[in-house]
Amino acid sequence: LVERMRPFTSTIFAEMSALALRTGAINLGQGFPDTDGPPSLLADAAANITGGINQYPPGPGVPALRAAVAEHQSRFHGLSVDPDDVLVTTGATEAIAAAVLALCDPGDEVVTFQPYYDSYAATAALAGAVLRAVPLRASGPGGPFGFDPDELRAAFSARTRVVLVNTPHNPTGTVLTAEQLTTIGGLAAEYGAVVVSDEVYEHMVFDGRAHVPMATLPGMAERTLTISSAGKTFSVTGWKVGWVHGPRELVAAVRAAKQFLTYVSGAPFQPAIASALALPDAFYADIATSLQGKRDLLADGLRAAGLTVHPTAGTYFVVTDVAPLGVTDGVDLCWRLPELIGVAAVPVSVFCTDPELGRTLVRFAFCKRDEVLTEAVDRLAGLP
Ligand code: PMP
Ligand code: GLN
Repeated sequence: LVERMRPFTSTIFAEMSALALRTGAINLGQGFPDTDGPPSLLADAAANITGGINQYPPGPGVPALRAAVAEHQSRFHGLSVDPDDVLVTTGATEAIAAAVLALCDPGDEVVTFQPYYDSYAATAALAGAVLRAVPLRASGPGGPFGFDPDELRAAFSARTRVVLVNTPHNPTGTVLTAEQLTTIGGLAAEYGAVVVSDEVYEHMVFDGRAHVPMATLPGMAERTLTISSAGKTFSVTGWKVGWVHGPRELVAAVRAAKQFLTYVSGAPFQPAIASALALPDAFYADIATSLQGKRDLLADGLRAAGLTVHPTAGTYFVVTDVAPLGVTDGVDLCWRLPELIGVAAVPVSVFCTDPELGRTLVRFAFCKRDEVLTEAVDRLAGLP
């Protein structure tokens, strides 16, 4: 294995899910729902498979899905997107990787925030790019898990090609404000960088907040690649269908990379997801309402168990500080937790270039059935 990929031989999600399986623990580590998406979506996909939609679809994606993504962006975000400027990918993961591979030469720089979704660092390494990760600190500045604009500016250089932004943010649960996004976008414009905006949790924002897509800010649509995923919105993480849209020449660059990563993506799933994207507003509203209740259930339980619970404004994750338990390393605790009380979680330090930033932080996922969360809370009560 080449040197630059050696830090990435296994993912924390695979390790913690395997540990949960071995020990029979409730898996609140890897973020995936324990109920499948809308019945109509599942039935459509099954019908497509038995109905013979099983060969290579068009490279850029099935026309119906590209049109449905454009329509969704108009309906929810007021964005005007030409279906020709939508590229269907094998999950958001591939969209991110293809974008970075398409836009970065070896030695170029990618600015992002830490903690980050784990694929960001690995993807930069695949491209031979250098990741400049700006801290989001639990206690600010810029609010809980906000950033210091001066620190952000200092991360930019003449080699910055991509700014990789994620809102709502995994793992911290932060939803970036229009003001924060304007600061980020302004620096991207000043340095001539492309914003790759990972918005996979766009429908999971709580307490009446709104998700602000980077591309809706003045002047940003022309330099932003917007990414989302059916896996999150429709609870079908195993289908691995995502998409990216943006300015034509940028999407063409991403397509050039994508065609040699996977060539095309999931034929029978694409038309089914196209129909699901047209589900009524009530379906989308229910995603947030239902998850907000789950957030509160788990957060209350974690607090009762003695952990410090950081606020979750969006996503299906809650970040805790385990220092009050007398624990000095979250990694250590996460390896012991399944045996100890039968619950699995993931340590936040593994999502950081500077692990000290997340040393005592542990992430729990709440995208689970209420009875599962209730059982997890009962078990957490047994924490010494
Ligand atoms: N970005 C973020 C922030 C995520 O949390 C995830 C899901 N793990 C992804 C991208 C990847 O999405 P997909 O499963 O569609 O590749
Ligand atoms: N997005 C999910 C998480 O952050 C799953 C990621 C994965 O398994 N690669 O937990």
